[in-house]
Amino acid sequence: MRVLITGGAGFIGSALVRRLVLEQGYEVLNVDKLTYAGNLASLASVRGRRNYRFLKADIGDRSAMAAAFESFRPQRVMHLAAESHVDRSISHAEDFLRTNVLGTFVLLDVAREYHAGLTPAEQEQFRVLHVSTDEVYGSLGADGLFSERTAYDPSSPYSASKAASDHLARAWARTYGLPIIVSNCSNNYGPYQFPEKLIPLTILNAMEGRALPVYGRGENVRDWLFVDDHVRALDMVIERGRVGETYNIGGRNERRNIDVVRRICDVLDALAPNGRSHSERITFVANRPGHDARYAIDATKLETELGWRAEESFDSGIERTVEWYLGNSWWWDPLRVRYDRQRLGLLSQPS
Ligand code: NAD
Repeated sequence: MRVLITGGAGFIGSALVRRLVLEQGYEVLNVDKLTYAGNLASLASVRGRRNYRFLKADIGDRSAMAAAFESFRPQRVMHLAAESHVDRSISHAEDFLRTNVLGTFVLLDVAREYHAGLTPAEQEQFRVLHVSTDEVYGSLGADGLFSERTAYDPSSPYSASKAASDHLARAWARTYGLPIIVSNCSNNYGPYQFPEKLIPLTILNAMEGRALPVYGRGENVRDWLFVDDHVRALDMVIERGRVGETYNIGGRNERRNIDVVRRICDVLDALAPNGRSHSERITFVANRPGHDARYAIDATKLETELGWRAEESFDSGIERTVEWYLGNSWWWDPLRVRYDRQRLGLLSQPS
């Protein structure tokens, strides 16, 4: 199986590349622009493998994408490349429109041309998976869950740009017959996540004795999923999901931000005690503009059609994640130095 993955040097993309190259034995071409969020160090375990190739390119570069399709001849495309951080989208919205909207358009259109040139037998096998977020659905009140039929209502420039890309993907399926599946997943966490996002930021700030910033009073609720569970779902959806359909992915694991931060502090108090509880450093900061109150996914379709279940519990997933950051400063230390520790510490919060 030849799989073209976009954004494979990012957090989720690198976990997907590792799975498909090392566990599935697929041939993988990873196309990534290597923005600040792309990191080839996350792919050290696949470097040099016969079934892995890397191409540094922008998904918005039509000729580079067309050449990649023609030379690699993928049977699957898994599209993860995106600008992904909500806070950055508030200060730099244009980057999000350029990659998430225009870049996705170029990728879809190149895939359309490539698909049109395949034989009927090859067309039958070809699939594109567009990987998206639950944030396109907007904010929930105290009750209810996002289903695949929930109306789109994005709040941030990030979620608006992802919503636009989802609409483009479905339009390319309906108008041009491109065999596309869309997935919308809840918040991910785990090893190799860039330290601007809530969980790695909290772990690293705590280890360095810094403030642990929490937006508002920490009441916002996210539905957390361990990254390997997401990646396993993506693999299942592209192999066995129905073309033209949408699948929501989430582990039924809602937590308030403040409870996530406290849980990390508890784990660190046990693994890296410093005499006082790490939770004493929690600092409430002014809430993010347009901060959605609650996200929660109904994954019934994925569970019943494809038999997927989240395997990692939140408690063990957080422990594994904290242990990974404690043991892998080689990976994150250069990122902390490069991106101004103080600024990251004050600006970054979960998406
Ligand atoms: P990430 O920011 O860690 O990685 C994004 C990757 O895309 C990076 O390697 C970056 O270099 C690459 N990239 C960015 N712009 C590019 C361009 N123009 N051309 C080629 N490559 C480019 O993101 P992530 O957290 O791994 O998310 C991956 C995908 O999953 C995104 O589409 C995101 O919207 C979606 N998603 C993320 C989450 C989450 O919690 N992180 C949840 C649901 C869905």
